[in-house]
Amino acid sequence: MSARPKKHYGQHFLHERGVIERIVAAISPRPGEHVVEIGPGEGALTLPLLRAAGHLSAIELDAELIEPLRLRAAGAGQLEIIHADVLKVDLTSLAGGHKLRLAGNLPYYVSSPILFHCLVHAGAIADMHFMLQKEVVDRMAAGPGGKVYGRLSVMLQLACRVEPLLRVAPGAFRPPPKVESAVVRLVPLDPARRPDPALARAIDVVVRAAFGQRRKTLANALRGLLDADAIRAAGIDPRARAEDVPPSGFVRLARHADTSNLQVGPHLVDNAGQ
Ligand code: SAM
Repeated sequence: MSARPKKHYGQHFLHERGVIERIVAAISPRPGEHVVEIGPGEGALTLPLLRAAGHLSAIELDAELIEPLRLRAAGAGQLEIIHADVLKVDLTSLAGGHKLRLAGNLPYYVSSPILFHCLVHAGAIADMHFMLQKEVVDRMAAGPGGKVYGRLSVMLQLACRVEPLLRVAPGAFRPPPKVESAVVRLVPLDPARRPDPALARAIDVVVRAAFGQRRKTLANALRGLLDADAIRAAGIDPRARAEDVPPSGFVRLARHADTSNLQVGPHLVDNAGQ
């Protein structure tokens, strides 16, 4: 028996077999890998992933779905169900020194916090395959020069290779969401290519400030962090706007930012914007 999907948990259950098969083929789990599914729901992806990997951890917030899922998975493999909000799960501890393969048809109401939570644990993650709103995947993969390019594009592209894989129409879900969806693959970059924590913090502050006032020139939007000379020293025109700067440009800007201001600038962080 299927439960009535709960809107407040972002429940849109996948039922279209072709879409499920394409997602599982894209993930292509192998025996022995530690696959972790976020939001297994009624198990549309869980069961085929479990059969392929033999073992799977699934993190589900809705208590009512847990027992039915356990029953459905009996005999398919070793399923560990973690009843929790994924935002509270320490993925690095869960990995236990190995690398996780994350997957999930994410609850859209909380998809950006989940993405940023995963980035915090990127060192423990081999790859991620997520179903998201297509508009979010477009933002994640966007290059500079347009309205879609923003904070999400920069922060994700500095941490991961971003590969949009397939578009999914609303009819593939029960109930159908109001928006189109898409599956994306994220592969964390080699740690040597990722900024160290101090620089990452500076990048975060500069990117939030730049896109928080995205219609202003960088000279104005970054006031207090970098003056025009510092922006030029980073190889960027101070009259440019945030949307003109590639991710690597933000790394250079962060290197030239006045880090003493980072201590006193939480207001910049709060006033995020995209
Ligand atoms: N994977 C299933 C499918 O494809 O049919 C369900 C996907 S549904 C879009 C999202 C799932 O995430 C639901 O099962 C929901 O209860 C669960 N969920 C919602 N918020 C969550 C959270 N914060 N942590 C973990 N799971 C959550």
